[in-house]
Amino acid sequence: MDLDLTPAQEDFRAEARAWLAGHVPRTPLASLETEEGFAEHRAWERTLHAGRWSAVSWPAVYGGRGRSFLEWLVFEEEYWAAGAPARVSQNGIGLLAPTLLEHGTQEQRARILPAMASGETVWAQAWSEPEAGSDLASLRSVAVRTAGGWLLSGQKTWSSRAAFADRAFGLFRSHASAGRPHEGLTYAMFGLDAEGVRVRPVGRLDGRPAFAEIFLDEAFVPDRDVVGTPGDGWRVAMSTAGSERGLTLRSPGRYVAAARRLVALWRAAADPGDTALRDRVADAVVRARAYQLYGYACAAGGPRGAEPSLTKLFWSELDLALHETALDLLGPYGELAGPAGDAPAHGGWAEGFVFALAGPVYAGTNEIQRDIVAERLLGLPKGRRA
Ligand SMILES: Cc1cc2nc3c(=O)[nH]c(=O)nc-3n(C[C@H](O)[C@H](O)[C@H](O)COP(=O)(O)OP(=O)(O)OC[C@H]3O[C@@H](n4cnc5c(N)ncnc54)[C@H](O)[C@@H]3O)c2cc1C
Repeated sequence: MDLDLTPAQEDFRAEARAWLAGHVPRTPLASLETEEGFAEHRAWERTLHAGRWSAVSWPAVYGGRGRSFLEWLVFEEEYWAAGAPARVSQNGIGLLAPTLLEHGTQEQRARILPAMASGETVWAQAWSEPEAGSDLASLRSVAVRTAGGWLLSGQKTWSSRAAFADRAFGLFRSHASAGRPHEGLTYAMFGLDAEGVRVRPVGRLDGRPAFAEIFLDEAFVPDRDVVGTPGDGWRVAMSTAGSERGLTLRSPGRYVAAARRLVALWRAAADPGDTALRDRVADAVVRARAYQLYGYACAAGGPRGAEPSLTKLFWSELDLALHETALDLLGPYGELAGPAGDAPAHGGWAEGFVFALAGPVYAGTNEIQRDIVAERLLGLPKGRRA
């Protein structure tokens, strides 16, 4: 398998690098978990879109560049190496868009994708419910048939960015007579400011207000906002989950850039005699590089998307290792966050660590991913869920 880039791909890398060097904001934007930061990040999406960098691998007709999966990986490497802002449109671009490209109608793609690419419509994921997180199929929110569409009722929770986002996609129980819990579900898109929808922020560890729960009381959704066949939403949702756990949500470039920053930190701040810490730095770098090569291998025809649970375990644990090592290296300074004048990297390591703590939870907890890997990939006997 040839993992070297072609001259044309190297040109693409150089083009992306040059554009990012000229456009990435010099000072970090405010956190996208705040109203002010959300607006700043939405404006950044507009800038990216104007340069045609917001959705590199989509067809040009929807605002993309029609580039390959490998070129998208390369773009991501450059993006994170440039210290560019987190993507407020990630739920849309990384999760809903691939789902629409696979299961949506032509009309849905043409209507939804361009506004997503420009940052005009920012999407939230409304899957989890108070009694349905790991066991998503036990969800109780309903979609009831009405003239020309569906009425949504129930409660969703832990919805990232929902406090400031425009629209959401979620799963609803629509066919009460269905036999098994994951049957009779419908995948629907709805406006967060629609009649019958109420959004209430939920406190996060960092105290910022973008995380939210969503209450629905007979909110109307027209037929054209149902993705796939009504009642067959689980199959559509598993397509989204594959993107969420696999390379699409968390590309290797993010970790390669963090590993480079960790090495720079080691060079600048570490005690050379601390070989135990040095070995952890080396280990994190090796793992980030392994993830990068895995991405290239997938692009070259390897098991892309076949093993999202494995991938999810890998990136979430790598993120923790990178940040824990950096904090141990920084000692007490590592605990300083954004507003502190001498916070290392503007508090990026401290904030990144807090976010990395959530990695083993969101996108399906790591305990559940281990069960999936054990049972479905390795063929081991059922354990806890037997
Ligand atoms: C930062 C963050 C962002 C999130 N963003 C979103 C979002 O945008 N949209 C959205 O819909 N959801 C979101 N979530 C919710 C997330 O998907 C859920 O938290 C996750 O699926 C776990 O569900 P739960 O919290 O209900 O925990 P539970 O399902 O109650 O699990 C609690 C613990 O028990 C373990 N456990 C449960 N069942 C089993 C089992 N059968 N075998 C072994 N262990 C088990 C779990 O692994 C976990 O450790 C987010 C969560 C976080 C932390």
